Amino acid sequence: MPPTEFDTASTSGAGLLIVDDDPGAIRVLQRILSAYPRLRFATHGPDALRIARESPPDLILLDAEMPGMDGFAVCKALKSDPALTDIPVIFVTSHLDISVETRALELGAADFIAKPLSAPRVQLRVRNQLLLKQQTDLLRRQVSTDPLTGIDNRRAFDLALPLEWRRARRGDTPLSLLMIDVDHFKHFNDHYGHPRGDTCLQRIAATLHAAVGRPGDLVARYGGEEFAVLLPDTALEDARPLVERIQTAVRAEAIPHEGSPVAEIVTTSIGVASAWPARDDIGPATPEALLRRADEALYAAKGGGRNRYSTATESACDTAAE
Ligand code: GH3
Ligand code: MG
Ligand code: MG
Ligand code: MG
Repeated sequence: MPPTEFDTASTSGAGLLIVDDDPGAIRVLQRILSAYPRLRFATHGPDALRIARESPPDLILLDAEMPGMDGFAVCKALKSDPALTDIPVIFVTSHLDISVETRALELGAADFIAKPLSAPRVQLRVRNQLLLKQQTDLLRRQVSTDPLTGIDNRRAFDLALPLEWRRARRGDTPLSLLMIDVDHFKHFNDHYGHPRGDTCLQRIAATLHAAVGRPGDLVARYGGEEFAVLLPDTALEDARPLVERIQTAVRAEAIPHEGSPVAEIVTTSIGVASAWPARDDIGPATPEALLRRADEALYAAKGGGRNRYSTATESACDTAAE
């Protein structure tokens, strides 16, 4: 491949961040990488970190030698920040010293370019790192995505639950969990066939996704025709209107369900449980207990006649069509 032919398709649009205390070196890199749509620049370490935190770039070109906070310190800070640790860092240095290179790689640098800068070499190294990052991002997304519905999968939920639990404990905030199950879905498959069943699950997933609005909320396919919704910073009383909104939204889809004994359309039963992880006297004491309580509430909603929700502290609420 000719070294000057590099494509910019391998960026996610987040762009590149070039960090160098020498404005002349920045101009050279800017020219070499001018095909990339979004180039940002910093002339010292703290500014580089600020820019990266503001909006994480696809890749960082980092000068090793800078007064004050040098490239190594910047790299260390990037790698210890969970939101920035996956950004590839290419060190740029005038030192060909092997110990400098080793130190950079030890700190988690992806690659290393020595000055004076050759355009094709910089372009190819940048492209390689971007392709690698793109592939890693794709794999990471696939691992946590349910292929049928496109929403988060059970794995993503299992990782998020203890994480959100700890976050809620640190912040002294409540945490609510909904377990949502499609009513008489076996009948649905029997009546309409599996492919229509799949489409139905896709529509329900999309409806849940649309109904649950806050950025920290997690909507996952827990398994089969069961979904879980994790709501950080949400107490039981705040979860209740959302549950009603979800059930109304699913009913509004008006997906025909002739085989259902409870309604002519697809309905859901929901179990709701809430915890206050920082407070020993309120709600379940562990993430597992929260899950159990939500499950028990779901079974109460099923037992109460389906097409309704139930909270962990009370009996089923009939929210069947107004
Ligand atoms: P209930 O109201 O008690 O929840 O009854 P149900 O029939 O929904 O519950 P049950 O657990 O008996 O059946 C769940 C059905 O969901 C059976 C299974 O074939 C179906 N199902 C699970 N995953 C999928 C899927 O990916 N696609 C389709 N089409 N159906 C699925
Ligand atoms: Mg320098
Ligand atoms: Mg089920
Ligand atoms: Mg079901």
